Amino acid sequence: METVALKRSSRILGGHPWIFSNELSISPKRFAPGSLVRAVDRQGGFLGIGYINPHSLISIRLLTSRDEPIDEGFFRARMLSAVEYRKKACGEKRLKDSLRLIFSEGDYLPGLIVDKYGDCLAVQFLTLGMEGFREIILRLLDELFNPKTMVLRNDGSSRALEGLGLEKTVIKGDLTELPRITEGGAVFEVNPLLGQKTGFFLDQSENRLAMKDLVKGGTGLDIFSYTGAWGIQAALNSAKITGIDSSADAINQAIKNAGINGVSDRCSYVKADAFAFLRENAAGNTYDFIILDPPAFAKSRARLKEALRAYRDINALSMRLVKKGGILATSSCSHHVSREAFTDALNMAARDAGKRLRVIEARSQAKDHPALLAVAETEYLKCFLLEVS
Ligand code: SAH
Repeated sequence: METVALKRSSRILGGHPWIFSNELSISPKRFAPGSLVRAVDRQGGFLGIGYINPHSLISIRLLTSRDEPIDEGFFRARMLSAVEYRKKACGEKRLKDSLRLIFSEGDYLPGLIVDKYGDCLAVQFLTLGMEGFREIILRLLDELFNPKTMVLRNDGSSRALEGLGLEKTVIKGDLTELPRITEGGAVFEVNPLLGQKTGFFLDQSENRLAMKDLVKGGTGLDIFSYTGAWGIQAALNSAKITGIDSSADAINQAIKNAGINGVSDRCSYVKADAFAFLRENAAGNTYDFIILDPPAFAKSRARLKEALRAYRDINALSMRLVKKGGILATSSCSHHVSREAFTDALNMAARDAGKRLRVIEARSQAKDHPALLAVAETEYLKCFLLEVS
């Protein structure tokens, strides 16, 4: 294994696993893409072992700060530790049912995502370095979790930046029957092969349940409804909802999920652009609650300004429609939008809409998507449950 010296090491010593190219003493192009390297400080003191990719913005992602072999034993220990964390933080019941089993940096396995939907595992390799351990990892997942079905969802756009191809395949079992998962009292059918992300937005699970507790009947909108999860939770507390999404496949799955939960009579869906729908259809102060869970508007830092404008606009449009004392559940999953910037966008939206906002709860991603305190980038989801007046 080759050694690379860093010009600066304080962030690494603080527990951050990323090293950028300008922090290396020599060009990352000198190393084989995806290979393991030992990172040392200016004096040659050991810092950690990670994988390097000269084509990526982040040159090195560290796997460990110990001098240890990166082999099957290493990955087994990391996976078992991810399970132990979830037993503690999420409970055995969710571990048996569905959750994110491995969350990349949050589980000290940068570049690897594993979601569990009942007996099915959906796996994503996000980086060239992690892809290099694909065989070991898939073998271990099979051995430790014995899933009936395994799906590879190597179709994230970040793979192209890493120099990796895109693929979506079932690698074990089949999907003749789609997995069903529970979330509180609700049941959702998930399509891990064709759905967005790996099929379901597990990161919002706890937020949906918190919102459900606030909804006591009434009428609401579930904007960017995808497969219906937020709205169906509200409908299970007697609410009547309309879901809006631009994807016909998502709407079909939402209609099916409403049926599975016995709330079809209270859930209707419209295929539309959310901005256009809100501008055209709704009169002011009509809804008891609005759920707003858009896709990441800021896909890159360069698009930040544009994204903040979109958050402001869609939130203002929504706030106008909420009755006095009603609730807005609003989220941003953009990595590049900080909690502060999102808060600012919400405050400007409230001014645009002539409303006041009171924070019922400020929330983040579910506990199966653990954030590292030293790695600000691992906390990406912002969710506010707001009273609008
Ligand atoms: N709230 C969902 C997740 C939403 S993901 C849940 O918790 O399950 C974002 C959704 O927005 C996707 O379903 C996507 O199809 C939809 N979408 C993206 N752009 C849109 C637009 N302009 N108008 C309406 N829907 C849009």
